[in-house]
Amino acid sequence: MALKYSRQREIIRNFMKTRTDHPTADVVYMNVRKEIPNISLGTVYRNLMLLTQMGELTKVEIGDGTVHFDPLTDDHAHLICEQCGAVEDLMLTPDEALVAEAEEISGGKITGHIITFRGLCAHCLAAQEE
Ligand SMILES: [Zn+2]
Ligand SMILES: [Zn+2]
Repeated sequence: MALKYSRQREIIRNFMKTRTDHPTADVVYMNVRKEIPNISLGTVYRNLMLLTQMGELTKVEIGDGTVHFDPLTDDHAHLICEQCGAVEDLMLTPDEALVAEAEEISGGKITGHIITFRGLCAHCLAAQEE
């Protein structure tokens, strides 16, 4: 018997809580399939989008053409490692002066921000220096 939709969503939610690496729907699919063998990629994607709408996940665009999902919904920035492709959380928010400046330049109203840094993660940097 197929699992109830609410149970599927619960398994996907619990899986996401264990991840800090911003998985795509494909990665989530490959992992939850162990627990829900008959689930489809489309169902996984719909559940991820639903959890996003419910405010339990955020979507992260890192410019690779796919949507990554993030269980960390507090304000934070990301570092994309150009070597290993890791997407790391950086717990920082732009200072008020920057937000004020953006508002002034735009002449509009700033309600949020998406901050993405590129470079090398600490791991790759250490490997390079060896
Ligand atoms: Zn790296
Ligand atoms: Zn994040």
